[in-house]
Amino acid sequence: MLISMKIKMILPALTEAKSPFWRPIKYSLFPPLGLATLAAYCHQEDEVVLTDEHVEELNTDDEPDLVVIQVYITNAFRAYRLANHYRAKGSYVCLGGLHVTSLPEEAMPHANTIFLGPGEECWPRFLKDFKLGNAKKVHKSLERSIDVIPPIRRDLIKRHLYLVPNSIVVSRGCPHHCNFCYKDAFFEGGKSFYTQQVDAALAEIDRLPGRHLYFLDDHLLGNQKFAIALFEGMKGMKRVFQGASTIDAILRGDLIEKAAEAGLRSVFVGFETLTNGNLVQSNKKQNIGKDYKAAIDRLHSLGIMINGSFVFGLDDDDKNVFKRTVDWAVNNALTTSTFHILTPYPGTGLYNNMQEQGRILHNNWDLYDTRHVVYKTAGLDEEELKEGYDWAYRSFYSWKNIAKASMQHDVIKHTIKHFAYAGGWKKFEPLWNFMIKTQGLNKMLPLLESILSKVNRTQPAKPEKLSPFPAIA
Ligand code: SF4
Repeated sequence: MLISMKIKMILPALTEAKSPFWRPIKYSLFPPLGLATLAAYCHQEDEVVLTDEHVEELNTDDEPDLVVIQVYITNAFRAYRLANHYRAKGSYVCLGGLHVTSLPEEAMPHANTIFLGPGEECWPRFLKDFKLGNAKKVHKSLERSIDVIPPIRRDLIKRHLYLVPNSIVVSRGCPHHCNFCYKDAFFEGGKSFYTQQVDAALAEIDRLPGRHLYFLDDHLLGNQKFAIALFEGMKGMKRVFQGASTIDAILRGDLIEKAAEAGLRSVFVGFETLTNGNLVQSNKKQNIGKDYKAAIDRLHSLGIMINGSFVFGLDDDDKNVFKRTVDWAVNNALTTSTFHILTPYPGTGLYNNMQEQGRILHNNWDLYDTRHVVYKTAGLDEEELKEGYDWAYRSFYSWKNIAKASMQHDVIKHTIKHFAYAGGWKKFEPLWNFMIKTQGLNKMLPLLESILSKVNRTQPAKPEKLSPFPAIA
C-alpha cells in the first residue's frame, strides 16, 4: 500500500497552439480549475504538481507515481502521446474529461484508468481503491452532487500566468439540451445540472483576492433560487463579475437586475443563429420565439456588456448569413462576438444525426476546433462557410465596426467601455504577447476592473452626432 504519492496533473496544450491562428492570450485566460478541484481530494501527504501546457513548459523527464490528464477534443492526440510516454516510464496514468467520456474506447488503450463524467465522486473513490492497490480500469460518475466539496487547491495555480486567475464555477452542467453541445453526453446517466450550496459558493468567492471574478458556469442564471441567493449574498462584496446566461433567463423576472446589482458587468449569451429553423434543428428551445432585441436592450439599460455567440453552417444558413449576422451584432451594440463553424462533437446528438446521414467527413480531432468544416454542409458549400466565417471575424472586429457598435449606446461611459474592451481584446495582440512573455498578465487586472466598472444611468447621455473617437478610420 502506497503511503504518499507523487501526483502530476496535466492540461495538455491544444494542437492548435502550434497553428498560425493560435492567439496566446485566448489560452492564457483561465487556470485549469477542474484539475485544481480534483487535487483538493488528494491526501495532504501527497506531492501534487499541476501543469497547464498552454502557459508553461511541460517537463516530461520526471517519474510521478500517478499522472492525471484532462482531455478535450483538440488536445486529445497530444494527451494520448503524453499518456503513452508516462506509461512507458512506469507511471500509472488516468485520463478523464469531455472527450474521454464521449469516446471511452478510443481513450482506453492509452490509460490505466479512465473516468467517465464529472469527477467529484468517482475521483475520490478511485484514490481510495488505488491506494489499496485495487484500482479499476473504468470509473464512472454515479452520484452527482457538489454540496460538500473541499476548497479548490488554488495554491497549485500560478496566478501570474493568467489574465483571469479569479475564475470560479459554482454549478455543474446546464438545464438545457442543445444538440450540438457536449453537456448531455458528459452528464449522461445522472443529474445534468446542479449547484453548490450558496454559503460554500460565497465562501469560495471570499477566498479570492481583488475585485474581478469570472464565473465559468454554463448558465449562471440557470437555477433561479440559487442565483437569487448568490446575488443577494454578493451584494456587499464589491465585486465586478462576468458570466453566461441564456436569453430566456435574461427576459424572465428580475434576476438580471439582481445580477447587475451584485456586480455583473458583462455576459456571454448564446444567440447562435437568427433563423428559427436553425434553432429548431439545434434543439435550442430556450431561444425559440424569444425577443433577442428586448434581452439586449434590457442588458444595455443595466450597463451590462454583451459577448454574443454565433454558429455558422446550420442547415438553414445561406451565403448571406455572415453579413446578416455581423450587421445585426454591430447594430445591436454587442461588445464582442464569438463565431463558430458548426462542429459535430462525438457523443452529441448532432454528431449522431450527421453520422446517420453520412455527413461526417473525417475524425481528425485536431480540426474539430470550430474553425474548420468537418461535415458535409447543406445550404452553402464548404469554402463559402470557411471564407464567410473568417470574413465575419475580420468585419466585426474592424475599427470601423467596433466604433459603430460602440456608438449605439446612449451613455458615454458605456460607449467608452465598449470601445476599450473590444479594441483591447482584439487589436493589441503584440501587447498581450509581450505581457505573456514577461509573465505580467495579471498586471492588466486593474485595467480590466476599471473597464468593468458600473455604468450609471444618471451619467451624461451622449450628445447626438458627437464621436469621442475622431481619429478612427
Ligand atoms: S445552453 Fe449552452 S451549455 Fe446549455 S445545453 Fe445549450 S449550448 Fe450547452
